[in-house]
Amino acid sequence: PLGLSSTIERISESKTAAIQALSQKLKEEGHKINDALCVGEPGYAPPPEVLAALRTAPREGHTKYSVVQGDLELRKAICEDLRCRKGVDYTPEQIVVSCGGKQSIYQAMHAVLGDGDEVLVPTPCWVSYHDIARLCGATPVPVVTRGEDGYVLQPGALAEALHASGSLCRMVVLCNPCNPTGAAIPPEQLEALAEVLERPEFSHVWVLADEIYERIVYDTEHVCFAALRGMRRRTLLINGFSKGYAMTGLRLGYLAAAHEGVAVAANKLQGQITSCASVVVQRAALAALRAGPAVDEWATKRLEELRQKRDFVMGRLSAMEGVSCVTPQGAFYALPDVTRLLARRGSSVDTSEDFSCLLLRDYKVALVPGSAFHAEGTVRISYACKMEDLEAAMDAFAKCVNELK
Ligand code: PLP
Repeated sequence: PLGLSSTIERISESKTAAIQALSQKLKEEGHKINDALCVGEPGYAPPPEVLAALRTAPREGHTKYSVVQGDLELRKAICEDLRCRKGVDYTPEQIVVSCGGKQSIYQAMHAVLGDGDEVLVPTPCWVSYHDIARLCGATPVPVVTRGEDGYVLQPGALAEALHASGSLCRMVVLCNPCNPTGAAIPPEQLEALAEVLERPEFSHVWVLADEIYERIVYDTEHVCFAALRGMRRRTLLINGFSKGYAMTGLRLGYLAAAHEGVAVAANKLQGQITSCASVVVQRAALAALRAGPAVDEWATKRLEELRQKRDFVMGRLSAMEGVSCVTPQGAFYALPDVTRLLARRGSSVDTSEDFSCLLLRDYKVALVPGSAFHAEGTVRISYACKMEDLEAAMDAFAKCVNELK
C-alpha cells in the first residue's frame, strides 16, 4: 500500500495552528471570533522604510536569485548591526540568511544534531524546538523553569540537567526573551548560565540562542549570549526580522555562527531546500538596517506601546480571582496561570485546553492553551494586537473567569 514517511510521524501538528483552525471553522459558521491574541505576531505594520523598499526593489531589478547564503550587502549590514547593538563580531561568511527564524533553527539543529543526541529545552517553551530536534533524530529533554523564578532558567537546574544528560547532551536551547512566558534573562543570570556551560565537562554542548525577540525587552537589558566570555564559538545565534520589525509574513531570518563548520553546513542544507530567501524581502531588511535612527525611533515607539499593553493586561489579570501571572519582561506574551479555576466541582473545565475551548466557544475569544507550550494550567495571551481587540478579549476573559470561580 502507499504509505507516508516515518519522519513525519516523529513530529506533531503545531497546537497554535489547531486553535487557529477551530476559530476559522467557527468563523465560517458565521461567528465573529476575536483571534487577535492567538497569533504570535505584531498587529502593526513594518517601518515605512521597509514598505518603500518592497515597492521599489523589483523595479530596481531585484527579482533574481541572490547567493543561497543571502545578499552580501545584507549580511554585511547584519554584521554591523550585531556589532553596534549587541557587541558581537561576525563576518558575512558566518551569517546565513533564510526564510525566517524557524528555518534558521531547522538548519542550525540539522548542522549539529544527529540520532540519539539530547537537546535540553527549558519549559514552558515554543514547541517547534522539540519537533525540529526530533526531525534530526535527537530527543528533546524538558528542563522546567518556575513561575517563582520569573520562568528564568536557574544555573543549578541547568547543571543538574547537563549532568543527567551527560555525553548524550549536544545542545541547550535558550530562548531569550521567551515565547510563551515573556521572560527576559537579566545579564547577571545569563552570565551565571554561561559559567555553568564553561565547565570543561560541558565543552561538547552547543547553545541555540534564539534571540528573535531581542528588540522587545522592557525592564532589563538584553545581552546577546554570544557576547559572553567563552560563549561565542559554541553559540548558534538565531535572529530575524519577523518580530522586531513586524515582518512576520515577509519571512526573513538568519543564523550567525562563529564555528567554522556551522554556516557552511546550514548553507549547504538551505541550498537543497529554499535556495536564497526572497530577494525583494532581503532588500527590505537591508533598508530597515540602513534606516538607522529612523528605525530605532520606530522601534522605541512600538516598544512603548507594547509596554502599555503589557501593563494593561497585567492590570486586568491581577484583578481576576483565581488567576496569577508573572510580569513579562520581554516579547509580547503573557502566560496567566489558571490552575485554580480548573477541575472545579460541577465544571467540566479540567485542563487549559478545556479553558481555551470554553473561551472560544462561549466568549468567541481564541487563546492558545498552555499545553501547547509544555505549560499545562496556563493560557498564552499575545498582546501585540490592536488595543480594542485586547480590551474586548480581556473583558471576555474576565467574564469567563467569573463563570468558573
Ligand atoms: N523563535 C520563536 C521563539 C518564535 O516565537 C518564532 C515565531 O513565532 C520564531 C522563532 C520563528 O520566527 P520566524 O520564522 O517568523 O522568523
